[in-house]
Amino acid sequence: MATNEEKLKTIISHAKEYGFVFPSSEIYDGLSAVYDYGQLGSELKFNIKEYWWKAMVQMHENIVGIDSAIFMHPTTWKASGHVDAFNDPLIDNKDSKKRYRADVLIEEYIENKLRAKIEKEVEKAKERFGAAFDEAQYLSTNPRVVEYQKKIDEINARFKKALEDSNMDEMKQIIVDLEIACPISGTKNWTEVRQFNLMFATEIGSLAEGANKIYLRPETAQGIFVNYLNVQKTGRMKIPFGIAQIGKAFRNEIVARQFIFRMREFEQMEMQFFVKPGEQKHWYEYWKTARLKWHQALGLSDKKYRYHDHLKTAHYADAACDIEFEFPMGFKELEGIHSRTNFDLNAHQEFSKKKLQYFDPELNENYVPYVVETSVGLDRMFLSILSASYKEETLEDGSTRVVLSLPPFLAPYKVAILPLMKKDGLPEKAREIMDQLKFSFNCHYEEKDAIGKRYRRHDAYGTPFCVTIDPQTLEDNMVTIRDRDTMKQERVAVDQLERIIREKVDLSSALKKLV
Ligand code: ATP
Repeated sequence: MATNEEKLKTIISHAKEYGFVFPSSEIYDGLSAVYDYGQLGSELKFNIKEYWWKAMVQMHENIVGIDSAIFMHPTTWKASGHVDAFNDPLIDNKDSKKRYRADVLIEEYIENKLRAKIEKEVEKAKERFGAAFDEAQYLSTNPRVVEYQKKIDEINARFKKALEDSNMDEMKQIIVDLEIACPISGTKNWTEVRQFNLMFATEIGSLAEGANKIYLRPETAQGIFVNYLNVQKTGRMKIPFGIAQIGKAFRNEIVARQFIFRMREFEQMEMQFFVKPGEQKHWYEYWKTARLKWHQALGLSDKKYRYHDHLKTAHYADAACDIEFEFPMGFKELEGIHSRTNFDLNAHQEFSKKKLQYFDPELNENYVPYVVETSVGLDRMFLSILSASYKEETLEDGSTRVVLSLPPFLAPYKVAILPLMKKDGLPEKAREIMDQLKFSFNCHYEEKDAIGKRYRRHDAYGTPFCVTIDPQTLEDNMVTIRDRDTMKQERVAVDQLERIIREKVDLSSALKKLV
C-alpha cells in the first residue's frame, strides 16, 4: 500500500509527464509554491470553471457573475480587516531552521496522534463485532476511545481560546505541552510563535507621482463587495441574490507545500449571496447542502467528502464550515462556506463614507444585507479531481494500465481520432471525421505509434473515447469507438459518433443532477 507521500508523488509526476502541471519557471529551478498549467491542465481547469460557473450563474436566475480587478484601492484591505488580522501564527524549529504554522502543528497532532487511534480502535471493533457493531455506542462507551476524545476536546478548548485571544505564548505552550517535535530535525527546540501577514504588497504609480503601497488581493470576495450596489442597481437584483466571480488570489503562505494544494498564486471561485438580516442561518444551511451536492455530482465517490464545522470563525463570520476532501495527504479543506454577516459591507460603508444599503420594496425599508459566501479553490478542485481519477489497473493479461477516469465532461480531450496506419487514405478519412467533430468537442488527432500505445496514452490523458479509422472504414463508413473506462470497442457508423460522444460528455447531465 503506497504511503500518502508516495501517492502525492505519483500524482505530481503524472501531472508533469502528461502536460497537466509544471513547476513555474522550471528552467530556473522553479519558484516555491507557484505552478503553471500545461496544455492538458489548462483544458481541465477551464472545464472545472465552466462547471462551476454554469452551476452557480446559469442555473440560478438570481445569481450573476462579474470579473473585478486584482488591484484594489488599499483602503479595501484596511476595511476588510486583512491589513490587521490576516495573519498566520508561525513558529521555527531552531535546529532544522524549518518554519511551520503553529495551528497546523497542533491540528496535525490531534489528527495523527489521537484521531488516528480512535479510527484504529473502531476498525478493530468493526472486524470483531461484524454487522452487530454499533459505532455511536462504541464511541461513547469504550474507555480508551472516551479517553482519547477527552484529550482532543481539552486540546481543542485550549487551542480555541488561544486563537480567540491571539495569545501566541499560549500557542507555544500547547506545542511544548504536547511535546510536538519537528518532523525534520526530530527536536522540540522551538522559537516563540509570531504573527505573519499573508498579503503581498507592491507599489502603484511612478516615483514622480508618489508611490503608493497596494496589495495583490488575497481573496476575490472584496471585489464583489465593493461592486455590490453597482450590480444590484444596474442588474435590478432583488434580495436574496448572489454575485459570483472566478479569479486569481495571492497569499504569502508560510508552509507552501503539497503541490497545488497550497500555492502563493492561486484561483478562487467565489459567490457572495446577499440576504435579508435574520435569514442568514437558513441560507448558510442551504448553500452547505447545495455545494456538497455540486461536488458529489462529479461522481468521484461520496465518501471522499465531509463537512468540518469551524471551532473558531474568522473575524467576519458568525458561522463557518469547510467541505473537506480526501486528498492523497488525507482529508483537507476544499471549499469554505461562511456566514459573513454584514461585516464587510458595514466596514466598507464606514471607510468609504458611501451608503451601501439596499432598499427592500417588500418591507419598505433600507438595510445592509447579510452575506453567505461559498469559496472554493480552483487549484484544489483540480488536485481533488486528478487524484481521485488516477488509477493503476492490472489487466487480465497481467499488464498494467494507468487511467485517469475523469468525469467525462471535464476531460481535456473528449475524443482521440486515430487512423490505424499512416497510409492508404486513412489519415485523410480521419481528418474528415475530425473536421466534423471539432465543432462540438475538443478532439485530438494522432497518427504516431502503434494503436495500443496511443490508446494507453489517451487513457493517461483521461480521454473518454478513442475513434479508430481502419481500411474497412473507407468501404462502410464505420469506425471503432473505444470506451476509456470499460475498454470495450464497438463498431459504429460515422454519423452516429456525435450522438454517442455527446451522451457521455455533456455537461448538462451533471447539471441536471443538481436540481
Ligand atoms: P487554509 O485553511 O487551507 O489556509 P483558508 O481557510 O485560508 O484555507 P479560505 O480563505 O476560506 O481558505 O479560501 C477559500 C478557498 O480558497 C479554500 O477553501 C481553498 O480551496 C482555496 N485556497 C485558500 N488558500 C489557498 C492556497 N494558498 N492555495 C490554493 N488554494 C487556496
